[in-house]
Amino acid sequence: MLDTRKLFLEAAGTASVGIAPPSPPTQALFILYDQLNLTVFPPDLLAQKPLLIFVESFGYATAIPHHQKKLVYILSAQRHFAIACNQAGFDVLPLFTIGSHSKAIAEFLIQNPEVTLTYMLPSEWDTRSEMALVQEQFSAQVKVIPNNFLIADIAKFTPKIKKGYRLETFYRDLRQSTGYLMDGKKPVGGSWNYDKENRKKLPAKVPIPKVSKYEPDQITQEVINLVENYFPNNFGLIANFNYAVTREQALTLATEFIQERLPNFGAYEDAIKVGEPFLFHSVLSIYLNNGLLLPRELCEMAIAAYTKGEAPLNSVEGFVRQILGWREFIHIYYEAMMPEARNFNHFNFSYNLPQLYWDADTELLCLKDAVSSVINHSYSHHIQRLMVLSNFSNLTFTNPQALNHWFYLAYIDAYEWVELPNVLGMSTFADGGILASKPYVSGGNYINKMSNCCAQCKYDVKVKTGDRACPFNYLFWHFVDTHRQDFMENGRVSLMANMYDAKPEVEKAEIYSSSQIFIHNLKRAST
Ligand code: FAD
Repeated sequence: MLDTRKLFLEAAGTASVGIAPPSPPTQALFILYDQLNLTVFPPDLLAQKPLLIFVESFGYATAIPHHQKKLVYILSAQRHFAIACNQAGFDVLPLFTIGSHSKAIAEFLIQNPEVTLTYMLPSEWDTRSEMALVQEQFSAQVKVIPNNFLIADIAKFTPKIKKGYRLETFYRDLRQSTGYLMDGKKPVGGSWNYDKENRKKLPAKVPIPKVSKYEPDQITQEVINLVENYFPNNFGLIANFNYAVTREQALTLATEFIQERLPNFGAYEDAIKVGEPFLFHSVLSIYLNNGLLLPRELCEMAIAAYTKGEAPLNSVEGFVRQILGWREFIHIYYEAMMPEARNFNHFNFSYNLPQLYWDADTELLCLKDAVSSVINHSYSHHIQRLMVLSNFSNLTFTNPQALNHWFYLAYIDAYEWVELPNVLGMSTFADGGILASKPYVSGGNYINKMSNCCAQCKYDVKVKTGDRACPFNYLFWHFVDTHRQDFMENGRVSLMANMYDAKPEVEKAEIYSSSQIFIHNLKRAST
């Protein structure tokens, strides 16, 4: 049997990262895989020219079987960043370990007792907990500084997270404190949101601008070879890796988005088109989540486009709401709810993930298209994540932990702090209504309204029950019936339970039997 651990270290050791050997240090700064931006670190610390330490951890790479493109991205972006730091005059030490990041740091501290090491609070829980142990063990040598990659004040907002505290209040608070899109105390344009102008179906003839691609350079190619050799069975396709891997490239993509796609971002934010994975989305979460781009600069770029008359307010507000609103809110939720959040399962669903999430083998076109996008790009846009993939998981009574695991490993932008609240809070209602006010479920009509999937699908969205019917139709009403308590408690959606109750008994019986057959025949993954 191959000793993959040994091979991983050998492969990593041959990496042509092009870094000059460091001189003996007294100050060191450990920079994590998702902290790749020096402007976020304290200037007085950087002025002392600390040795910058980067760790490639086999433990992290194997903790879950990440999508192959995700591994390539994390490693390549970190190597490119380390080289850029070296070129900017810093000594850089790349460490490779079969263990965790913290293990490599502990070994370094033992070997270098004269060095004082600083690290920024990790955003992911496990890395944070492991580093806390290192800090405890080497308290005289190690200093932790707050994480500055996000905007909202953790101490101020975490106590507010509870049922009833919703995004809207939080978002308005942040709009006021940042001054973004504000006209004194009033929102620019007179309204806090422009949803009425958004959420349009995409007309067939609207041209969709392409997202620029970057061919792998030598460093990325080396990482691709490493991942191909040592993680060949991980989920997803590695072929055609063409994401940006440096800040300069990511900034070019951000500028391209602002100029070419932001004007239509709002209008078609909720649209789905078969074979179009990116539509008018920014595809920038990848770079935001490891620090190549920063949330403030993206908001400010979008607002500048509005000020110059280059993008309409409905799109710019919609984009700012996603970053300043949702992204920050999700982060505060994670800080408030961990680690208990990992166990949430409000409905006590216990079925394994449907097999189709791994192989896209389904005749339901909306699902096939969404999963294919994840297999190919390690990405699908928000509305596919919510309206298709999470919705189907809920309607088929799938264990939200299984869905959470899949989202975490499958998406290139998935770090636990941003992925888990979206899955266990927003989309599956696994927290019982702390983050969202209702379970995210819908029938085929809504998917039909927002996409061109149904027109080409084997199933008929107009048929409500039976073999030809779109399964989302009967599964939705089955869900409403079986989880009526959560619908009845919420004024906004109690209407649904009432609508179900008003259906003729024959139809209710057909909904029940179609759902039972579908759920029990659905092929499930083995774990
Ligand atoms: P755009 O549509 O262009 O939106 C602009 C930016 O807003 C994004 O780049 C992102 O930074 C931010 N944003 C928008 N919505 C959210 C949100 N709900 N939470 C946090 N940030 C948001 N986002 C991740 O970054 N990582 C994840 O692992 C992740 N998992 C998700 C799982 C589910 C089930 C759902 C419903 C959403 C998830 N999201 C996640 C949020 C959102 O879907 C992605 O941020 C977005 O699709 C990324 O693509 P984009 O950059 O093209 O986004």
